[in-house]
Amino acid sequence: MAMSSESDHVDSQNETLEKVTSLCKRRGFIFPSAEIYGGFRSTYDYGPLGAQMLRNVKQEWWRSIVQLRDDVVGLDAAILGPPAVWAASGHLETFTDPLVDCKSCNERWREDKIDGVCPKCGSTDFTEARAFNLMFKTQAGPVEGEGATAYLRPETAQGTFTNFANVMTTSRKKPPFGIAQIGKSFRNEITPGNFVFRTREFEQMELEFFVPPADSATWYDYWVEARYEWYLRLGIPEADLRKNVAAPEDLAHYSLGTTDLEYRFPWGFDELEGVANRGDYDLSAHARASGEKLDYFDQSTGEAYTPHVIEPAAGATRAMMAFLLAAYAEDSVGGEVRALLRLHWRLAPIQVAVLPLSKKPEIEGPAREVLALLQQDFLCDFDATQSIGKRYRRQDEVGTPWCVTVDFDTLEDGCVTLRDRDSMEQVRIAIADLRVELKRRCDAA
Ligand code: ATP
Repeated sequence: MAMSSESDHVDSQNETLEKVTSLCKRRGFIFPSAEIYGGFRSTYDYGPLGAQMLRNVKQEWWRSIVQLRDDVVGLDAAILGPPAVWAASGHLETFTDPLVDCKSCNERWREDKIDGVCPKCGSTDFTEARAFNLMFKTQAGPVEGEGATAYLRPETAQGTFTNFANVMTTSRKKPPFGIAQIGKSFRNEITPGNFVFRTREFEQMELEFFVPPADSATWYDYWVEARYEWYLRLGIPEADLRKNVAAPEDLAHYSLGTTDLEYRFPWGFDELEGVANRGDYDLSAHARASGEKLDYFDQSTGEAYTPHVIEPAAGATRAMMAFLLAAYAEDSVGGEVRALLRLHWRLAPIQVAVLPLSKKPEIEGPAREVLALLQQDFLCDFDATQSIGKRYRRQDEVGTPWCVTVDFDTLEDGCVTLRDRDSMEQVRIAIADLRVELKRRCDAA
């Protein structure tokens, strides 16, 4: 029956979420924050492998958006901002979620996320919804109560809009061109949760792409497609990724069109990234409030216009979670369950593990030379402890695509064993050919 297969799917998916969460903790991807003090609700720290993987996710975004194009430049704007910015952008007034209290158990919820029933006690009796502003407010300056009010940015985009003229002038770009930013954002979410899916401190990867108004629909379609392809390329299965086009009545006040890219998380399809056609809303609002000109003078027509903005806004931490969930797999090796992460090599925190078969100096010495050679191009690990089978499993579990084993024969023939994570196929290869072969495999992936 459709019902039961759907619930089976959800059960096995929830199991995957538990397994991935536990793997993240056990293998040093993601830890609960301040754990020695009992943790800090829905806040996480990224361990050695997680810090590297998160960096890889961001690097891949930056590579595809900035490095491989000549029409996008980067920016790294401040996290702290003055109230004027957030007044002009509309965040002070409208960056709110509807907050309700359950009258039965007093738990607080975001009204639009609970389907009319308290997830804790099942009651349907709530207070009237009130608008709760999600921005973190603080004081800049040493005297308590007298410092200037400042806000932690809830998105990176406003720093891009306020720098529009600076960037356009200094980079000598003209529309269509984009400004890309990656960095931390902060939202005082009413109900954070689902591991790192929704946290109060998170990382965003946002592109503001400025275009002539007449071309905005074309560029909007272009960026929806380009961003969709990015997730597929890096390992999200097509069946688990969809484009959810917002109905006109559901659009945010600034938006002329929004498509959410959604991944099938264990609880159902949910947003990875929003691509919005924001019209000239942002630049016009900041131009009005600041009195500065934020338009582009087109010399070919002799006219100035305010560019329209296409914004693909993604979460780096949320994307990392999706990549981990999509990569998690189990198969059977010699009658035993093998857990592995089929991570794309560009996202894997370790790309090549060098494993000396023995700790004897005559083996470890050459193995370290292989390590030094590969470290020039790849993220490497060196592991000399326990049986080779156990070491392979350890690497599989954290998603290492390739292992290189140095053994006693290496001393004779100058060859090593190269093992592939997914097929477990092993080939003998000369150390002199190793870099080229690994690069060939990378290019083929
Ligand atoms: P939601 O409806 O889930 O609250 P949103 O539509 O407000 O999200 P945007 O403002 O479009 O989110 O932010 C762009 C991206 O930033 C989101 O698609 C998501 O990947 C990421 N993001 C937003 N809020 C959070 C959060 N609290 N924790 C982690 N990532 C987030």
